[in-house]
Amino acid sequence: MTPGPLDQRGRGLGVLRLSLTARCNLACRYCRPENQDPPTLLTHQQRLKLVGAAARLGCRRLRLTGGEPLLAPGLAPLVQAVKALDLVEEVAVTSNGVLLDRSLAQALRQAGLDRITISLDGADPQAVLRMGGGHSFAHVLAAIGHAQAVGLPVKINMVVMAHNGDQVIPMARLCRSLGVELRLIEYMDVGNRNGWRPEQVITAAAMTTEIGRHWPLEPVGRQHGSTARRWRYRAGEGSCPPLPPSANRSVVIATGCG
Ligand code: SF4
Repeated sequence: MTPGPLDQRGRGLGVLRLSLTARCNLACRYCRPENQDPPTLLTHQQRLKLVGAAARLGCRRLRLTGGEPLLAPGLAPLVQAVKALDLVEEVAVTSNGVLLDRSLAQALRQAGLDRITISLDGADPQAVLRMGGGHSFAHVLAAIGHAQAVGLPVKINMVVMAHNGDQVIPMARLCRSLGVELRLIEYMDVGNRNGWRPEQVITAAAMTTEIGRHWPLEPVGRQHGSTARRWRYRAGEGSCPPLPPSANRSVVIATGCG
């Protein structure tokens, strides 16, 4: 295998993030999803070629994203075809979870999906509504249950900003009770697409301090090539890595939370 390109810090490509659609069925307040796909959306075969090319450059993990990737037709066949290439070590989907019922969870698991990361920005229906997630809370909780029931490992992504800063502790509590990893994401400036304002940011340091008051934390460092800082509860039961803006991921049509 030829060594792939490295960034200025000597990190390889690591993760390929492949957006399957620009559309989404939610309208989170920190995101501006498109309501239609561009005419240049890749075909199934083009996606497979891209995964093969990225793997030859050193990508070992594939994240299928959107918009909302469960809106994209042919998701399970794509996962199955990528796994059949046997070129990447992990295939994961990042989804808002609204469309994940038991049969789709089963189909994705049978296709070889290794993990699903589900976005959830609050631990109660009103908090989710406030963040632009509509009336999706019950659907998302059910989706987590469907994934777990078919043996699909789950992580939860939570974008934290002033509007839902009061949800960090309730979300940590919820994720501990569900036995899933909570990934806290700082509200990021992505140009003119999400109306970013610095006063709406809650820093990773503030989040870990707040959680540590309830459940003492200890840092467990970063995975090689990752910008995510990880902590674990001293008493066990899960981990929660606040994520700074990511720099080591390949992006293909980046739109949305994935
Ligand atoms: S953040 Fe994700 S779930 Fe929310 S509107 Fe954007 S793409 Fe959809």
